[in-house]
Amino acid sequence: MDFEAVIGLEVHAQLLTKSKIFCSCSTEFGAAPNSHVCPVCCGMPGSLPVLNKRVVEFAIKLALATNARINPVSVFARKNYFYPDLPKGYQISQYELPLAEGGYIEIEVDGQKKKVGLVRIHMEEDAGKLIHDEARPVSYVDLNRTGVPLLEIVSEPDMRSPEEAVAYLKKLRSILRYLEICDGNMEEGSLRCDANISVRPRGSEKFGTKVELKNMNSFKHVQKALEYEIKRQIALILDGKEVIQETRLFDVARGVTQSMRGKEEAHDYRYFPDPDLVPVEISEHWIREIADTLPELPDAKKKRFMEEFGLPAYDAEIITSSRKLAEFFEACCKNFPKPKLVSNWIMTEVLRELNKEGKEIHETKLTPEHFVELLKLLDEGVISSTIAKQIFPEVYQGRSPKEIVEEKGLKQENDEDALRAICQKIVEAHPKEVEKYRQGKKNVIGFFVGQVMRETRGKANPKLVNKILTELLEA
Ligand code: ADP
Ligand code: MG
Ligand code: ZN
Repeated sequence: MDFEAVIGLEVHAQLLTKSKIFCSCSTEFGAAPNSHVCPVCCGMPGSLPVLNKRVVEFAIKLALATNARINPVSVFARKNYFYPDLPKGYQISQYELPLAEGGYIEIEVDGQKKKVGLVRIHMEEDAGKLIHDEARPVSYVDLNRTGVPLLEIVSEPDMRSPEEAVAYLKKLRSILRYLEICDGNMEEGSLRCDANISVRPRGSEKFGTKVELKNMNSFKHVQKALEYEIKRQIALILDGKEVIQETRLFDVARGVTQSMRGKEEAHDYRYFPDPDLVPVEISEHWIREIADTLPELPDAKKKRFMEEFGLPAYDAEIITSSRKLAEFFEACCKNFPKPKLVSNWIMTEVLRELNKEGKEIHETKLTPEHFVELLKLLDEGVISSTIAKQIFPEVYQGRSPKEIVEEKGLKQENDEDALRAICQKIVEAHPKEVEKYRQGKKNVIGFFVGQVMRETRGKANPKLVNKILTELLEA
């Protein structure tokens, strides 16, 4: 039997406001434990929450960017449960009337475009953090994170593969970053994802029983956890057993999911409207004002980059996945109108360094000026591509490529006579390889090119070397 996966994601995005959602405490990360707390976020009886307007503004931005319907009136509700990191005994969230409903996020997997529907976007507060002592059976409570604003974004069960789920998450993160409302860092927990997944025989209309997966803090974990869970559920069904509705945790070390709690233990949160907070009324006027501040979003930018710069969809997708990277690309093309060369170098050399350091382009010392200078040296044949790649890490560290080339004498050797002499020497030193070449193993030329490059420390013009070597070997 052929099966199909059905996936819906619940994502929490921590907002980049300066202060918390219902008090003026700082949201700054990494401060001394319990130094950013007050009676409101500590949940002292009698204290009253006051809504941070910025949080609503950020939520409206995301709703507009995803074409969601913004409710003119939305309501905060208490979600009741006990946990040591939740001093009030309830979390302030939204339930029956969320900030926004509907809308969609467009993804593209294997050249197939698809709109993933959204159920809702709502505002809520984060809980504190428990820190468990490694040495002793003791846990500490840090309330600095209590009351930090979150948006919860719930998707429809519209995704059909782990790849689609990851594409959705990446697109959502990219939109949040473009809007500058969330830093999108999954490892640090500012973007968290719970995945709901079920399987059904392909062609069937009815959804299967879903399982909720928690504890995935990277795209790779989401992919792996979903792949594992699909296999597990299909095996169960083929074995004549049933999938049970439960919450499972992804065990990173073992690459498997494990049961955490079943349906019977599911919480009954006893939601009710929070009597301490008035309903949130949002005027058309305010929405229009915010709409005017929205930047060009990833999908629009991608389309424009394909049209304006002639980039292939693949390149445009990668370059526009980050607003800062896209700005860097555009700045380069302004002074050096060879977009494909710029994009090739960004997608290989630049992204390699960025990924190594886990940084965004604006957090590095690489400037569009230096980058263009390097590409011009390469494009004009002043340096070879080997040298260009060799010196790139230094340029990335903030040095001028021209200076490096001058200082180290790395200009490309374009003098045909000088190169011919070197080629001659190499050919004479390797009679066996020459013999092989002449017996028809033409690809031995690669060996000779390599030798010449070594001799010239990468400076020889490869086209010229190829031409000279062919002449010498064919002679
Ligand atoms: P719950 O009340 O258990 O949280 P919801 O109906 O609110 O369930 O859905 C939560 C998430 O689960 C949503 O993202 C939704 O798309 C997804 N979902 C719902 N039903 C299924 C299913 N059968 N298979 C996979 N995902 C599902
Ligand atoms: Mg749920
Ligand atoms: Zn506070």
